[in-house]
Amino acid sequence: MKRLPFFLSMGSCPRRCIYCHQGEITGTYSVPSPEDVLRTVSAFDSPCEICFFGGSFTCFPPEKQQQYLEAVFAAPSGSTVRFSTHPECISGAVLKEAGRYPVSMIELGISSLDDEVLKACNRGYSGEEALASLRTVLDEGFHAGAQMMIGLPGQTRESSLQDLRRIDEIRKGHPVTIRIYPCLVLEKTPLAELWREGKYSPLSVSDAAVWAGKLLN
Ligand code: SF4
Repeated sequence: MKRLPFFLSMGSCPRRCIYCHQGEITGTYSVPSPEDVLRTVSAFDSPCEICFFGGSFTCFPPEKQQQYLEAVFAAPSGSTVRFSTHPECISGAVLKEAGRYPVSMIELGISSLDDEVLKACNRGYSGEEALASLRTVLDEGFHAGAQMMIGLPGQTRESSLQDLRRIDEIRKGHPVTIRIYPCLVLEKTPLAELWREGKYSPLSVSDAAVWAGKLLN
C-alpha cells in the first residue's frame, strides 16, 4: 500500500527538545490543515496509508486530532492511518478515540529511556513514563513503533542497549517497530550552541553505523 505522508512540523509539541528544529529540516514552518489533508487524500485513487509524521499528534486538541483522522474515511476503501506522537500525550481516552479509525501504527518518539539523557535533551518525561505509554499503546491492541535515538548528550551505547532490553521486557511478545535516528546538530537549536561551546560532539558516520548495528544485533 502506498504511503501518503503529511509532516506536521513541530505541531503541538509540549516543549522544544534541544536537538530539534523541524522547520530547518523540512524548509517549511507551516503545518497542513485538516482541510489540506482531506483535499489531498480525496484525490487519491487507490488505498493508502495516511501518515502523520513530525510534531506531537496526540498533543493536538481532541477535535483537531479527529479532523485529521477523519481524512481516512475520505480516502479509497481499505486505507489506513498512522501517526507519531509524544509519550506524554498518550492516555486511555486518546487511544479509545484513535480506536474508531483504522490505525496501522502509533509511533512514540521515545529517544532514550535513560533519565539523565532525557533531562539533558529537555524531553520532559522519565524513562518509566515513556515505557508506560508504550505499554498502554500495546495493551490497547495497536501496533506500536518506538523512535529511538543514538549519540544524544550523555548517552552511551550501553544505555541504548539497556533501552532495548527494557522495551523487550514490556512488549510481551507484541511486535514493536524500532526506528533508529542518529542525533545530528541542526542550526538554530540549543544543541548547536552546545556544539559551538565544545560541550557536545556528534557521532561520526562510522561510529553511528557501528552503534546502530549493535542495536540491530
Ligand atoms: S523532537 Fe519531537 S517532541 Fe521534540 S520538539 Fe521535535 S517534534 Fe517536538
